[in-house]
Amino acid sequence: MRLEEAIMVDRIADIWGSRTPFAQGELWPVRVDSKLEDGLEEKDIDRWVQSACVLCSNGCGCDIAVKDGRMVGVRGRAVDAVNHGRLGPKGLFGSWQGVVNPDRLTRPLVRVGGELVPTDWDTAMERIRSRSQELLDAKGPLSHGFYTSGQLFLEEYYALAILGKAGIGTPHMDGNTRLCTATAATAMKESFGADGQPGSYRDIDECDAIFLFGHNMAETQTVLWARVLDRLAGPDRPLVVCVDPRETDVAREADVHLALHPGTNVPLMNGLIREIIHRGWMDEDYVAAHTLGLDELRAAVEPWTPEAVAKVCGVSADDVRRAAQIFGTSQRVLSTVLQGFYQSTQATAAACQVNNLHLLTGKIGKPGAGILQMNGQPTAQNNRECGADGDLPAFRNWENPEHVRELAELWGVATDKIPHWSPPTHAMQIFRYVEQGSIEFLWISATNPAVSMPQSARIRQILDRPDLFLVVQDLYLTETARYADVVLPAAAWGEKQGTFTNVNRTVHLSDKAVEPPGEARSDLAIFLDYARRMNFRRDDGAPLLDWQSPEEGFRAWQDCTRGRICDYTGLSYERLRGGSGIPWPCNDEHPDGTVRLYGDGIFPTFLDRAETYGHDLLTGASVTPEAFSALRADGRALLKPAPTQPPDELPSEDYPLRYTTGRTAYQFHTRTKTARARQLNRAAPSAWVEISQADAHALGIVEGDIVRVSSPRGQIVVPTRVGDVREGCVFAPFHYGYWQDERSGPDTDGGARPSAANELTITEWDPVSKQPVFKVAAVRVEKVADGTGPAPAPTTTASRPADGSVPATIGGADAEANEVLRPTAPPRVGSEGAA
Ligand code: SF4
Repeated sequence: MRLEEAIMVDRIADIWGSRTPFAQGELWPVRVDSKLEDGLEEKDIDRWVQSACVLCSNGCGCDIAVKDGRMVGVRGRAVDAVNHGRLGPKGLFGSWQGVVNPDRLTRPLVRVGGELVPTDWDTAMERIRSRSQELLDAKGPLSHGFYTSGQLFLEEYYALAILGKAGIGTPHMDGNTRLCTATAATAMKESFGADGQPGSYRDIDECDAIFLFGHNMAETQTVLWARVLDRLAGPDRPLVVCVDPRETDVAREADVHLALHPGTNVPLMNGLIREIIHRGWMDEDYVAAHTLGLDELRAAVEPWTPEAVAKVCGVSADDVRRAAQIFGTSQRVLSTVLQGFYQSTQATAAACQVNNLHLLTGKIGKPGAGILQMNGQPTAQNNRECGADGDLPAFRNWENPEHVRELAELWGVATDKIPHWSPPTHAMQIFRYVEQGSIEFLWISATNPAVSMPQSARIRQILDRPDLFLVVQDLYLTETARYADVVLPAAAWGEKQGTFTNVNRTVHLSDKAVEPPGEARSDLAIFLDYARRMNFRRDDGAPLLDWQSPEEGFRAWQDCTRGRICDYTGLSYERLRGGSGIPWPCNDEHPDGTVRLYGDGIFPTFLDRAETYGHDLLTGASVTPEAFSALRADGRALLKPAPTQPPDELPSEDYPLRYTTGRTAYQFHTRTKTARARQLNRAAPSAWVEISQADAHALGIVEGDIVRVSSPRGQIVVPTRVGDVREGCVFAPFHYGYWQDERSGPDTDGGARPSAANELTITEWDPVSKQPVFKVAAVRVEKVADGTGPAPAPTTTASRPADGSVPATIGGADAEANEVLRPTAPPRVGSEGAA
């Protein structure tokens, strides 16, 4: 490919685009990807508005194309350190088309006589205020719960955290980040003392080996995978180890693919650690100087010989040895971790063992030697930082009185107002409290639990409770919004201003490109309006939240982060405009930001710094402040051991197969945006399940046949893809709900098929992170009808048919999906911060 050549590529069929190979230590070449409305060219665009993509946690910098006051396309930012100009299919097609749609909510809705009817803002907000005040007066703050998202902006989360903690005083706050990223946070807290990503995307450019633990990066962060592919195509290819039960595109590139049974991550990790210790690959000096807990860890892993691992996990002992050898003998190793670990049995325990591998070998905080405990959603990091997930803002410790006092002083309220008498309430418990009737006011913003939470039938019953006052704030009338008492139309990405932070701590500014449709308002404006109507005040009588703009909210957040790990004080809207995103901490000491944490081997495990005092990884029992103090960790990382326990649900005679759920490259979450981009929707339009060739043969099933998949909790009836999933396993994409049929769930009269993957999942969660278990359940599969053609599953991803029998046009090439790729030279990448 000649760099100056403009080429047409179908980025639905070719998800990662053309290769731009590069060698270890070189800059990843720039390639600018763009997609404009059909018939438009760049010369037709009125203006470009700076932003970053919000359809996964990668955080690719982009510019929004505006013409005649409308969003008409998107272009990657060449200068951005995250993506060097690239965008993936979701960013190219879904980011702007997903919000430009005639069925956007444009007016508030209130329930009258059982129906949702349009109304004005004053009526809707007064209805919320009066019920909220009534419940606060009668039952107090514990009657209120807030369940938010991983897709709002930083300023919006911080406003929500302040009004919830210092306005109402409820501990019942969480986000759907509990479903996708809670384990990333807890694994880092348990090992290092606080949240905060040690590694950087730049470690891909520098490493000798990449380990992907339960992370189908090829589909979940497509641009990051393009960076990996470009290293793999370069002259000094890093080795790749993939831990995943499916034959993903990551697995296809791997030197070792450990296709373990779902629910057996911890035995595998213990086996890898045992090999590192037994084969002398530990960095004993680093371990002695910078860690605590080696003896306990050594004892916990000792039973896990490669043969013992092979027996429990269903992998070969030689592959375990080979993977450990790659980790132990490669000088620079990057590990990434995602839902295969986070949403499985013993989530935090497994993710901590990845940290342990790096700590034992001293492969942390140096170029090419890093850990990326990934997030799922684009702004999940901000949810955690700001405390909209229940934690205290800026990684403060709810058990540390000084941390609570700092916040009380900042917000001008008494320390007793801020809930800190017990751990924050996690999402699964919030919904349990609604089920039990103690939470009667639930405000859900930018998320769709009717489809995304486990055991869907139970969640629908909870949302439908007559004693629940439910507020839903979103772009569209989702399955969840259909249960609401009040629906608030929110402004989308591109229609509001704010900042957000990606997996490797890079902060981006997103400027407002266009006006929101109708009367839709930004989430920030809605929260500020509620705080004003509720008359939330500081103790000196001043308004609790008197911000007049997102930028004022950002400045307030900077004050909150001063001196903390996530220090934003060196950033500003002005600094973030024009160049690349900048990774925190960014302050006087690190004026250009910080690429990697912990290069000095000093971790925030000091008693006065730690965000948590830790937990027992098996039971979730808290370590007391006294016990943590007695450890005298004082800057050393903690090698936390993890005894193993069996999966939460094992196959049985009635339910003989293992069920696991996951993602496809073409959809995001419950498809609220991506299904409204025609190219993405054509690629993966409706639900399916994947089973192996062996299981299909045994059950008399062929490609496309309609099957009933049943678990003890429910059933789905969907077409079959006979694919590359391992024998004995069933995979279902979790994106698909019922909104396209104007329903909130499956019809009970047999008229419409149940198809949401979470009809089958279990109500179980990790004892430390409280992240629900979506990857482990037992199911039965039965054929109910002949198919009329292939399953509606992509042929371009891990969901491809096993025998290649399905034409690639199914979910593949789409002439309308073309866009121009413009490789450009020379590379010009902006500030990535100091190493
Ligand atoms: S990789 Fe993620 S952030 Fe980047 S363009 Fe794709 S969806 Fe957007």
